[in-house]
Amino acid sequence: MIKTKNICKKFGDLKVLADVSFTVKQGEVISIIGPSGSGKSTLLRSLIGLEAINAGELYIEGISVKESKTEVYQKMGMVFQGFNLFPHKTVIDNLIEAPIIVKREKKEIAKIKAKKLLKKVGLYDKKDIYPAFLSGGQKQRVAIARALAMEPDIMLFDEPTSSLDPELVGEVLTVIRDLAAENITMLIVTHEMGFARDVSDRVFFMDQGAIISNSIPEKIFVKPESKRIRSFLTKIL
Ligand code: ATP
Ligand code: MG
Repeated sequence: MIKTKNICKKFGDLKVLADVSFTVKQGEVISIIGPSGSGKSTLLRSLIGLEAINAGELYIEGISVKESKTEVYQKMGMVFQGFNLFPHKTVIDNLIEAPIIVKREKKEIAKIKAKKLLKKVGLYDKKDIYPAFLSGGQKQRVAIARALAMEPDIMLFDEPTSSLDPELVGEVLTVIRDLAAENITMLIVTHEMGFARDVSDRVFFMDQGAIISNSIPEKIFVKPESKRIRSFLTKIL
């Protein structure tokens, strides 16, 4: 579960998050859409502690971020637009690095879990090769498996398909769609509107640092009440 109360973030004089409050329940899938610069990435980065918020309160699984930073952040995994794999490590070594170092898992155990995850994302046969030999879609599926290797309760995705060639988008969305069917809480920043509509329990529409709509997908995609959302959708679809 995630709960935020009036979180604010400024970069200098620029207010990037303005009193953002919401609750996400265990197992809910949320898509975050909105124009460029509206604060979508900053919101995800703030949730996982890559940006320090200037004001407000943030609770992850009931724990206040102020009270216990490391414990809170270990409950979350994040996947970025760029894949950020360790280039000098094989696929399986990319997956076991954090569990061994951060969670002090035994190597053999970490490897068993990693193999399971690679099967799940359809890349078991690539386990011993280096990231340079993978396609963009495969790299992103490894990045997802690597985040899952830490057994997070919550997964954050920031435009996971934006840097992929169109024919590779589907395989990554399929993996995320499969995760959505499990009980994992997910926040997904995406420009894939069809996907957002299908997979989400709720959609957040962000504009100028605020969530101006927080509702079921039908309300946003079928009958958007706000003029701002209508104009965004006409541009993007
Ligand atoms: P996009 O769809 O283009 O990815 P976004 O909704 O993710 O946009 P953010 O990246 O969160 O938007 O940026 C929100 C605002 O904050 C923008 O005006 C951006 O220029 C500014 N910003 C983001 N990161 C920084 C930073 N590290 N320093 C200064 N300004 C920043
Ligand atoms: Mg962004």
